[in-house]
Amino acid sequence: MNEKPEKLIDKKGLRLDGRKPDELRPIKLEVGVIPNADGSAYVEQGKNRIIVGVYGPREVHPKHLALQDRTVLKCRYHMAPFSVQERKSPAPSRREVELSKVIRGSLEPAIFMEYYPRTMIDVFIEILQADGGTRCAAITAASLALADSGIPMRELVVSCAAGKVDDTIVLDLMDEEDKLGSADVPIALMPNLNAITLLQMDGKLTSDEFESAVNLAIEGCKQISVMQKEALKAKYVGVKEEAEE
Ligand code: ADP
Repeated sequence: MNEKPEKLIDKKGLRLDGRKPDELRPIKLEVGVIPNADGSAYVEQGKNRIIVGVYGPREVHPKHLALQDRTVLKCRYHMAPFSVQERKSPAPSRREVELSKVIRGSLEPAIFMEYYPRTMIDVFIEILQADGGTRCAAITAASLALADSGIPMRELVVSCAAGKVDDTIVLDLMDEEDKLGSADVPIALMPNLNAITLLQMDGKLTSDEFESAVNLAIEGCKQISVMQKEALKAKYVGVKEEAEE
């Protein structure tokens, strides 16, 4: 086990990984990474590695869960046993059940659910390596995978957290900051509609600090949103070029 660092922000105002308070970790997004899925995406955010596969709309199992007027969105957030330093039990944890639910809630408002009555859409999220902020990175990637599957959406949902470490409001907390910091505020956003689809808070903040954290997380979301659109375009430019050859 590493020693607990005395300070999470140094004298120069930089964080443990050298970032400024309002700086995101390096992000890589890729669309169309699972050939047999209807849609898929892969994200690297700092040391996080997450893959998402979307299957559907397809027949509902078990049948009695079908809804007559809209599709059923099912999300499964799952951490691989090797995704964290101390092996995670392969059995579904309460945390995974909770995250599956909040991720579904953050994606649903973007999807035209009524277009596909009596069907279900499965979103499988596999955390290959976790380093803090996996729910946010998973939402960003899941939204890309849904778009890749061709399911009509109001817009892409993008997600990012801000929080407080030492006495500073910081963007995009990594694992150590998440664990040793005093608060974490993950949000998910539809940037053009200016609609927040996820807002959680872990820890304590004053109302001013909370407002600063939400505003900073929104700025982070907007930066990631640009990368998200580029990742989607990159796949379809490739498809177009192949078709033209
Ligand atoms: P998020 O990943 O969305 O920030 P949490 O705040 O619950 O969700 O978790 C923060 C981080 O704690 C995770 O990203 C991961 O790095 C670590 N973590 C979560 N579950 C475990 C576990 N079972 N064992 C070790 N580390 C874990």
